Amino acid sequence: MAAAQGTADPALAAITAANAPDTIRQLEEWGVSFDHEGDDYYIFKSCFSNSPRTHVIKGHGEPIIAAMKKQIEMRNDRITVMDDLNVLYLLKTDGRAGGAVACQKGELLEIQAGAVVLATGGSGQAFKRNMNPADVTGDGYAMAYDIGAELVNMEFMQIGMGFSWPEENIFNGYIWEGMPRLTDREGNDIFEGVLPDGLTEQDVMHEHRKHFPFSSSDCSQYLEIAVQRAINQGKGTEHGGVLIDLTHMTDEYVSSLEDDCGIHHMWPIAREYMRRRTWIF
Ligand SMILES: Cc1cc2nc3c(=O)[nH]c(=O)nc-3n(C[C@H](O)[C@H](O)[C@H](O)COP(=O)(O)OP(=O)(O)OC[C@H]3O[C@@H](n4cnc5c(N)ncnc54)[C@H](O)[C@@H]3O)c2cc1C
Repeated sequence: MAAAQGTADPALAAITAANAPDTIRQLEEWGVSFDHEGDDYYIFKSCFSNSPRTHVIKGHGEPIIAAMKKQIEMRNDRITVMDDLNVLYLLKTDGRAGGAVACQKGELLEIQAGAVVLATGGSGQAFKRNMNPADVTGDGYAMAYDIGAELVNMEFMQIGMGFSWPEENIFNGYIWEGMPRLTDREGNDIFEGVLPDGLTEQDVMHEHRKHFPFSSSDCSQYLEIAVQRAINQGKGTEHGGVLIDLTHMTDEYVSSLEDDCGIHHMWPIAREYMRRRTWIF
């Protein structure tokens, strides 16, 4: 509620918070494994949290998808799964959504339904640069809007810093605690001439450790401003970003840092991912 600065729906936030513990237990029963530290769950302070409450699953969302698929298979007497199917538009019956038309293996398919629930994800691909999977195209928004649904909360897009090369991916906030050096393609420090008096790049990165998304509510904003300024001045790299040096972030260095946002636990996982994907490191 505090992070949303008055824009979050209190009832919805309360439902999410109240249901989280049972959902975690349910996922565990279904075989999803959450990271532990000693006898307890590993939890850390992720974006804008004032206390640690974020759990970690190795493999990100994939174990959740695998567990849910298994549960669906166990209910196959009641659930019909139609895979490899692209829904094109919704059918309107008596002023309500009454089914959909889809394309499956080149054939058009009409599906009648008493009710329609869309779970087609967000619309990250509407942006030229983004870190979303290729199928996050906003199809559900468009299909619902086309038959007269009102779209709400469209302004809640998370815009944040990511890697542009060797692949597009998220740059988690905790990594900033490692104080990486950021330079333009000519090797100049990108913060030069950007920071207000009294603010150092260390202050900016230290603040940004608390959250991934861009925020104008704290001094971390100067990080994105410095990066974008370098790009706007034509000093960005051929991949549309700036250069970041993480080579100093050895185990020894990272374990010597103060950790209140998860860098000790999370950085080795991120670094392992980068190494597996043969990032230059
Ligand atoms: C890089 C990155 C890192 C993230 N990290 C985290 C994190 O650490 N923790 C966290 O909680 N969240 C994280 N998120 C957010 C999280 O992944 C999403 O909020 C979540 O996956 C949304 O789930 P969803 O089921 O609503 O949509 P999705 O997972 O996007 O699923 C939508 C599905 O609908 C399908 N679809 C779309 N259009 C059609 C169509 N026309 N016909 C048929 N099928 C269609 C898509 O193929 C897809 O399978 C991250 C997101 C990104 C991009």
